[in-house]
Amino acid sequence: MIEEFIKTHNLPNFRLKQFNQQFYKESIKNFGDLSTWPKDLRDKLATEVDFMDLELEKEYISKNKDTIKVLFRRKVDNQRIETVLMKHRDGRNTVCVSCMVGCPVNCTFCATGKMGFGGNLSAKEIVDQVMYFQRQLHEQDDKVTNIVFMGMGEPMLNLPEVEKSIEVFTNPDKLGMSSRRLTISTSGYVPQLKKLIDDGFKGRVAISLHAPNQELREKLMPVAKLFPLEKLIEALDDYVEITNKRISYEYVMIKDVNDLPEHANQLADLFEDRLAHINLIPYNPIAERDFQRTTNNHLREFTRILTKRKIHYTIRQTMGDDVNAACGQLADRANKKHQAKKISG
Ligand code: SF4
Repeated sequence: MIEEFIKTHNLPNFRLKQFNQQFYKESIKNFGDLSTWPKDLRDKLATEVDFMDLELEKEYISKNKDTIKVLFRRKVDNQRIETVLMKHRDGRNTVCVSCMVGCPVNCTFCATGKMGFGGNLSAKEIVDQVMYFQRQLHEQDDKVTNIVFMGMGEPMLNLPEVEKSIEVFTNPDKLGMSSRRLTISTSGYVPQLKKLIDDGFKGRVAISLHAPNQELREKLMPVAKLFPLEKLIEALDDYVEITNKRISYEYVMIKDVNDLPEHANQLADLFEDRLAHINLIPYNPIAERDFQRTTNNHLREFTRILTKRKIHYTIRQTMGDDVNAACGQLADRANKKHQAKKISG
């Protein structure tokens, strides 16, 4: 990254400040626009450092234009990843970033999991995804307001690079976002989640839950065998006790699999005395699997039970499903399947 260039060339500290100001705050589009640096230094920078480590392959825009999905190619190995910008009606612009090529966790309902695992992204590649949209929005006098680590990959299995990218997002000299606007989602890697919290993460935590009992969770998410629901909830209770922060639980609703009244009641048993919010996400069908989206009737009955039992929930508005950009749909369909390195358990 830029720090290395500054160090190698023994440049004074103010050069880094100038760089950060123009790169992150003014969203320059190439190093030639770094007008606070002398031309020879800019040229040297452009020769030695890549402006982005990702190359744009394709942009897909949803019919109603509220969602943009971008296919990037990694310069380092030509593998592809996807990133999504969601423009919400309330003015939020949320970037859903990927932290891996594919994912080794292999949740049964997820297109990314079906790709297998192609490697971890670097912090720079994670930041590149956000800066791509930041530059685009800057031209419209707008900006990225929220970042969610809910794209390809399990953030807890690439924690060092994820944490470095968080530093860039929240450092007041760089992107300077409030950590409250960052959400990290995990399928439930308890030790890594504890480390993230111990390291001082102040953002929001979301748990991919998707089942209200251990047996069903194991069927849908192999990770549940490694970190059983009971242990996961125990660790999250500790987190809530220390931080007094509410945890979001993501629950993809799949017809006749996890969307029946018994599941709603089990979910209520789990959360009725807990500081929790359930995001109900109607399942987005993927070609790789024949699961179906919950029906309106099932959803109505499910939410009736949750309401009656005073469980906080939201039905997540589906965005970008016409361009395969919705939850669980991200996958590089152009590439042949990776050699999957799946977790054991
Ligand atoms: S849901 Fe998340 S953790 Fe599970 S396979 Fe998909 S990307 Fe990986």
